Amino acid sequence: MERVAGSFYDGRRFREGTIGWDDGVVVEVGPRRAGPTIARGLIIPGLWNAHTHLGDAVVTQELKGTIEELVAPPHGLKHRVLAKAKDAAVIAAMRRAMTTMLRTGTTGFSDFREGGLKGLKLLYASVAALPLGGVALGRPAGLTYERREVEAILRASDGIALSSFVDWPADAIEKVAADVRRAKKIFAIHCSERIREDIDKVLDLKPAFLVHMVQATDADLARCADARVPIVVCPRSNAFFGMTPDIPRMQRAGVELLLGTDNAMINVPSMLREIEFAYRIARLKGEMSARDIVEMALRGRRLADPDAASAIRVGERADLVVLDVPDGASGFASLVRATASDVRLVVSGGHVWAGGDEPTPRKVSRSRHRR
Ligand SMILES: [Zn+2]
Repeated sequence: MERVAGSFYDGRRFREGTIGWDDGVVVEVGPRRAGPTIARGLIIPGLWNAHTHLGDAVVTQELKGTIEELVAPPHGLKHRVLAKAKDAAVIAAMRRAMTTMLRTGTTGFSDFREGGLKGLKLLYASVAALPLGGVALGRPAGLTYERREVEAILRASDGIALSSFVDWPADAIEKVAADVRRAKKIFAIHCSERIREDIDKVLDLKPAFLVHMVQATDADLARCADARVPIVVCPRSNAFFGMTPDIPRMQRAGVELLLGTDNAMINVPSMLREIEFAYRIARLKGEMSARDIVEMALRGRRLADPDAASAIRVGERADLVVLDVPDGASGFASLVRATASDVRLVVSGGHVWAGGDEPTPRKVSRSRHRR
């Protein structure tokens, strides 16, 4: 068993103690005890990036233009670059982004992978041997429904995630969503990002979660709260396109909120940076506690495991981040100010990431990509 010590988050508050894990699972949480520990500091569950497009990391140029010109399918810049990129280049770019996630304390993510079945294969090739948990959501290569393609994608993924309702012919998107339901997998979709979309039509597709909802009305948000459909907010991405999500308003509507970094060509996939930015722009719209913002960055793990707790407890997956920041009662305030250089140690599925390019090899654990 390996142990870390310090001020740890138990799901309600920070407590002093020692955390031990074995075979990828937390097996000991308790008062500080004598004996060797591999790190000390403020200890939180691994951060969870609830929305990424890691394939975009292959686009490295400075970005100029509108949201349509850069990311909208099928002709936005990212789609043009991805269509031409060599497989090895896409894999290398995604792997670099994944390494950035680990280094900055993220142990799980949910990716909207473009490029059909082949796109998923590149994602799996990139994540191989990296101790990252996650949810891999594919999509058809085009904006059309073909049953055989959808079935093949569903066999190889955790579900399907689409660009947006307005991009698709209504009958085709309904068929895709129905196939995902039949397979009992995850259907997810961007919604009301650049224009307001019809929330009833989108909720009829039975999404597991929505992304953005920047243009949503109070009534739209209330519908999501009633339907218990979480919303992933990506404030740095929105700000890049001149928009400010009203996170306090979303919270007042009673919606379950998650945090994601969105396109890897726009934002480095560091949840610490997203947390800091979310906290600042929430202040522009009112007030939100540091704890509420940090919780948004932890709660995504429920997408992979609905029973997972955003807390360090016996029986949870050993996903831990140890930070060198002021601890105790000020733990959450420290977290909304923390940077990558404050990360002392990352443990993902029991694997210890000591800060190099590769994790220190440990016992094989149950930490591989959920399939
Ligand atoms: Zn997105």
